[in-house]
Amino acid sequence: STANLNADEDNINVVVRVRPVNDKERSLRERHMLEFPGKGQIICHGTTPGQKPKLFSYNVVFEPAATQEDVLEYSGIKRLLEMAVEGFSCTAFCYGQTGSGKTHTLTGPPGLVESGASPYSEDHGLVVRSFVYLFQLLQDRPDCHYILKASFLEIYNEKVIDLLNPGNSRKPLQVRWSKESRSFYVENLFMVDCEQLDDLFAVLEEGTRNRAVGAHAMNAHSSRSHTVLSVRVRGLVREQRGVACATHGKINFVDLAGSEVTKRTNSTGKTLEEANNINRSLMVLGYCIAQLSDGRKKGHIPYRDSKLTKLLADSLAGNGVTLMIACIAPTKSNLSETINTLRYAARAKKI
Ligand code: ADP
Ligand code: MG
Repeated sequence: STANLNADEDNINVVVRVRPVNDKERSLRERHMLEFPGKGQIICHGTTPGQKPKLFSYNVVFEPAATQEDVLEYSGIKRLLEMAVEGFSCTAFCYGQTGSGKTHTLTGPPGLVESGASPYSEDHGLVVRSFVYLFQLLQDRPDCHYILKASFLEIYNEKVIDLLNPGNSRKPLQVRWSKESRSFYVENLFMVDCEQLDDLFAVLEEGTRNRAVGAHAMNAHSSRSHTVLSVRVRGLVREQRGVACATHGKINFVDLAGSEVTKRTNSTGKTLEEANNINRSLMVLGYCIAQLSDGRKKGHIPYRDSKLTKLLADSLAGNGVTLMIACIAPTKSNLSETINTLRYAARAKKI
């Protein structure tokens, strides 16, 4: 990468988003387990029978009434986008159990992106809103020329699949180490030049469609795979300025596999292999992030232990900012997964 982070600034932001009660939970009159006593705080009731409620603190907590626009404004994503333009590698990811709102937060309600809705539709999630903001940023810098390239991949069972190139019949791609750029890359991954907002939007739409096709072919596939949409931002200062300046920034948007899969101990065969792979990648990711949040620790960080962390290594290594959005449900039937997610998120950042 071309830039180094100011050590005084936090390189990880941890926010929690609580989804609204859904129809099923409402009809069952399920108990609410959460309270929001103050900024960035959540009280979770009933962690263990007879035990006191537990208080958790994060950078920001989005209550069920929060809008998609609120998440853009207050999650800290704008800073990641600004830094990507300046040449840093940044990652925003959603963590949580299946049904907790990860995909909703990133891309909105099911089918919205595939329907070809206007990029300005108010249901759009963080990804489309970020694209719009990114283009605003670039327009504010008329003395620079920027080239954007986007890619969209899926990691399923430790296999990397290109969501923009399904013509290769979902043939897994290799992750390799580049000595030159000192980072991992995906060999033969399709990169789309994006000159306009519509080009980025088309990448999202195409990849989302292809992911849905895979989901149909394989049962519950989307809860068992990670997707990574990356936008590379290369900046060049115009010649007449007489200064040679080039930046290579990046932003990754990651929709993680459902965190509940990690606990399925009664799985066998293929399902067990899937669960183990997901388990490992989420564990390694959590470990990498915990190390990252503790600036003093400079021990060995096991990026190489999963495909996901290899691909995110340059941004997780402290050369940019990471945003973790922990997604949870407010009701009793989700309690044990909610606690797991709140703990995972709390470990990522000790405030
Ligand atoms: P995940 O990707 O974590 O499995 P989804 O994003 O698919 O979960 O969310 C499950 C369902 O709940 C979807 O129908 C989604 O639109 C809805 N949902 C999630 N979060 C919200 C929210 N903040 N507001 C309204 N609906 C939501
Ligand atoms: Mg999802």
